[in-house]
Amino acid sequence: MTFYEKQTDPSSPMHWLGDMQADYLYPNGKAGDKLFKHIKENDTFLASKCINCSKIFFPPRLYCEDCFVEILEKDWFEIPSTGKIRLHTIVTINTYGEKLNEPKMIALIDIDNTDGALLGIIKTDNIDENLIGRKVEAVFKSKNQREGTLKDILYFKMR
Ligand SMILES: [Zn+2]
Repeated sequence: MTFYEKQTDPSSPMHWLGDMQADYLYPNGKAGDKLFKHIKENDTFLASKCINCSKIFFPPRLYCEDCFVEILEKDWFEIPSTGKIRLHTIVTINTYGEKLNEPKMIALIDIDNTDGALLGIIKTDNIDENLIGRKVEAVFKSKNQREGTLKDILYFKMR
């Protein structure tokens, strides 16, 4: 099947092999920009709270995605950069498929006092240990090396 052929049988999915260039820009948006500026200068995070349903967003949002209510400036607040590991896995290759010198533990971390979560690297001596439910804290780059991105978080350490 080629790219120009029309699909006529819905039970026979189309496919073709090849490379496709996919360049894109992903802007932070107003809320992301505010969070990253905060992270650049502080060792804490920001969250925002919907006054209608009380959901606490991390990363912070300008609008509640559940009830579409605008979240005003007064409903933004600082939170500690701490959380609890919901799940984790071990990564042995990079995004190019190349083997890493050392395996890394990557975790989904429920950020304390919010309804949000963040992916992060976990620094641990025993990478095979089950760390689900363990409390962690973000370790940031030194302030003069930060760029205002998530990469300013070096890793999460055990609390
Ligand atoms: Zn809401």
